[in-house]
Amino acid sequence: MASVFRPKTHPTIHEFDLIRTIHQQHSRRTSSVIRGIGDDAAVIASQDGQWVVLTTDLLTERVHFDLRTATMSDIGFRAAAANLSDIAAMGATPQYLLVSLAIPHTGASHHVHQLYRGMMAACRPHHVALIGGDTSASDSGWFLSLTLVGTVPPRKALFRNGARIGDYLYVTGTIGDSLAGLRLLREPTPRTKRHSRTATLSARHRQFLIGRHLRPTARVEEGRWLSANHFATSAIDLSDGLSGDLRHICENSHVGVELNLGALPLSPACRAYAAARKLDSVDLALTGGEDYELLFTVSPRQRRRLEQSTIEQGFSITCIGTIRHYRFGMQALTPHGARRRLAITSYEHFT
Ligand code: ADP
Ligand code: MG
Repeated sequence: MASVFRPKTHPTIHEFDLIRTIHQQHSRRTSSVIRGIGDDAAVIASQDGQWVVLTTDLLTERVHFDLRTATMSDIGFRAAAANLSDIAAMGATPQYLLVSLAIPHTGASHHVHQLYRGMMAACRPHHVALIGGDTSASDSGWFLSLTLVGTVPPRKALFRNGARIGDYLYVTGTIGDSLAGLRLLREPTPRTKRHSRTATLSARHRQFLIGRHLRPTARVEEGRWLSANHFATSAIDLSDGLSGDLRHICENSHVGVELNLGALPLSPACRAYAAARKLDSVDLALTGGEDYELLFTVSPRQRRRLEQSTIEQGFSITCIGTIRHYRFGMQALTPHGARRRLAITSYEHFT
């Protein structure tokens, strides 16, 4: 799981290269493993014919969260949402949760209860049952690891490697909000007029963006809808940022992409934040991680059916590009019609 808190600063370890090496050297496939390392979640075929989907995430204090800007309840909620989102990206239904926790000496039992209240608040709408975990002491901050188990009917799972040339690229909801919210949380409280930069952003927009960062919505219904109706040829959830996660779809599917920057769905709050801070809202959308929206591809044959069903379901999706030959690479079309190579700027941890 990547983190928006600290950019890649480790002198020798590159997270994705490390995972690739672990995969090559240590993972062994068996006939029941439908998908191992390399997707949002692992998929295995169970005896009764169902496909079981498993994902795990580790959150570390000061790398993934900061107790100065988030409550224990927020941290629990966001951790659960991140895992729910990985299950959603597979088109699966989340069912069971295991939680492992290392508690620092400064931690008290009411902190733990708040953490669980947050986790269960995110899980409750999806009827996920807490079934176990592990507890330890820590001498260096909080560690929180969640493992979420779900199911998907056989052959209905969505993978990162199914995008085909000519497919349309879609994203749910709006993007860039979480990064804007995180930045707002980290701004120093204005004391003097000279520092009152936050005054230009309305309280409503501020609250929306912070809420999007601390309490993201996992798109579980949307994921299941995409898989059940065979709408999507590939899918991933946005945890590392649009450009980085799009690269995973392109690399895994061995395709290129033309991204239409003018079509990126930006919330009014994100636009207002970018204007107030003199930032490029498109950059926020491209680089911002942890939006937990779904990025997916749709074949031209399914497009009309998808668009019609979206309206019926009341889902919010936006077409933001097209899949091209892999030699095309990753290119962005600016709102002014200029073309540029898409820089990959997503965040990683190992700090
Ligand atoms: P996501 O951002 O969707 O949670 P990650 O980037 O964390 O995905 O992980 C990508 C893939 O690498 C997943 O299949 C995950 O299970 C696998 N993975 C990550 N870390 C390890 C590890 N230390 N050992 C084995 N597999 C790992
Ligand atoms: Mg993911």
